This record gives sequence, structure tokens and C-alpha cells, in this order.
Amino acid sequence: MITRFAPAPTGHLHLGHVVNAIYVWGLARALSGRVLLRIEDHDRTRSRADYERAILDDLDWLGLAPDEPSTDAFRGGVCEGRQRDRQPVYERALATLRAQGLVYVCGCSRREIAAAAGGNADDELRYPGTCAEKRLPERLGSALRVRLPATVERFVDGVHGELEQRPSVQCGDLLLRDRDGHWTYQFSVVADDMAQGITHVIRGDDLLASTGRQILLARLLGRAVAPTFVHHPLIMKSPTQKLSKADRDTSVRDLRASGLTAADLVGRAAYLVGLTDTLGPLCAAELLRLPRVGELAARLTALEP
Ligand code: GLU
Repeated sequence: MITRFAPAPTGHLHLGHVVNAIYVWGLARALSGRVLLRIEDHDRTRSRADYERAILDDLDWLGLAPDEPSTDAFRGGVCEGRQRDRQPVYERALATLRAQGLVYVCGCSRREIAAAAGGNADDELRYPGTCAEKRLPERLGSALRVRLPATVERFVDGVHGELEQRPSVQCGDLLLRDRDGHWTYQFSVVADDMAQGITHVIRGDDLLASTGRQILLARLLGRAVAPTFVHHPLIMKSPTQKLSKADRDTSVRDLRASGLTAADLVGRAAYLVGLTDTLGPLCAAELLRLPRVGELAARLTALEP
């Protein structure tokens, strides 16, 4: 069992990340697996080195040690756990898709896609395929898309059970590289999960809608068996609003500065997401003893073929 904790260095860790870490480390320990740390800095415009340093430092403070690479390996410079340092992985994955004739240059802006798709720019937009047959010439850093066949992706989520999604209807042809020449989240995460042999993707419910397209993309990249997915609940700010990095009162930095201990913080995150019934300190070593994590681990074991 190999899973990963994959924060983007576009802000500080907040309680929502701590919830995710509880599931990731808790399930990995319960299933005798390993946790890889991946710094998802594919968005080079929004990623910052000071946020990355703060994330590493907060993980050390929380007592959440990745099995590889160590947080110190990131501090040492080039590190394979950082997307910026994994360019050959994405180049190879792109070449695999190109060889199947699936990649094309896209000249559309977000606004043009929104207009053509008839939605507003904040909703999930289905790319209507405007550039699919245009054969636009490729320049250095052109935006690239992959043609997605019309499939129904069926999978069993560890929490939600059997689900099906239709990527070609939901999102249409996926962007692989954007107009600034940056690899996209969807592409880099699938290439990384495959190259790093991730067997379990454990993340919040906000990414559930991305799963079918990631399974499909992985198959196009040659992945024979999709990873097992677990989408856990999120801490909500209100019934309809999730916590975000903008909610400063929940950042690990600020809570730390206010005098809370690491165990207070882990305990608070576990309580707010319903993993415990009472509010109290919880140290990282106790995660695998949480009954609700144990039940989920047992369900994952039962899913193994
Ligand atoms: N980097 C993503 C995030 O911080 C996580 C991606 C994933 O788990 O697939 O939300």
C-alpha cells in the first residue's frame, strides 16, 4: 500500500489539510503502507518557496513524517517529491499520449470556453472541442489537450461505494498544459500517481468529480489497474461552504502561534470532521487507533481483488 500527501505550496496548511493527513497517515499505518510526500507546485505562478518551507516545517511540528522523501530531502534542493523537479515524468507521459494521436493544441481562453459552453466561468466547464480538429501549429509552451473517448468510468470509492462518471460529458477533452506552459493538476497528478506506484489515493470530497477522468487518463497512459480511491468528508465552514486557505483562523501557523500543541490541533481536526466524538488532544501515533479509521481500513482490505 503506497499513498501520498500532496499539498500545493500556494498557502499555509490549514485544518482541512490536517484532516486529510489524519486519513492518509492513519490508513497507511493501519494497512502497513507507506506515505509519500508530494509538493504539488505544478502551478508555478501561485506556488511559493516560503509556503513550501512552512508546509515542511508544520509537518515536522505535527509529527507527521513522510516515509519518503523526508522533509529534509526537500530542504536540500532538487527533490523528486516536488513536481517542479519531475519534468521528465510529464514529458514521457505526454509522449505516450502523442504516440496515440490524442494530443492537440488548443487556442481557447477560459472566457471563450465559458461562452461556448454556456456556463459561467466559475462552474465546471465542459470543453466543447472547439480546437479538436483545427490542427493548430504547436509552439513552445502551447496549451495542449488530450482527446477523451466517450466512456463510463465505474469505480468503488472506499467511503462512497460504487460510483460512475462520464468524463467526456463532465469536462470534455482535458487540458494537459496551459497557455503559460504549466502542466495542469489533472495531468501531473495522474502521471505522478502512476510513476510513483500510488495504490491508494486518499483525499477530500472536493476532488470526487475528478476521479473518473483521472482513471481514464491513467488508462490512456498505460496504467493497467487504477488506484483505490477514498474521498473523505471535509470540515465545513457552513453547510455549503468548505474551509479554505483564506480562512486564516484555521491555518496551522496561526493556531500554532496561538499556543495550541500539535496534539490539540490533530484532535481538533479529527473532532471537526466527525472522526471523534469528543474534543481533546490526539497525537499522531494514536491515529491508527481511531475506530473510524480502522473500520475504513478494513473496508479497503475487503476491496482488494
Ligand atoms: N494538491 C491537491 C490539493 O492540495 C491534492 C491533489 C490530490 O490529492 O489529488 O488539494
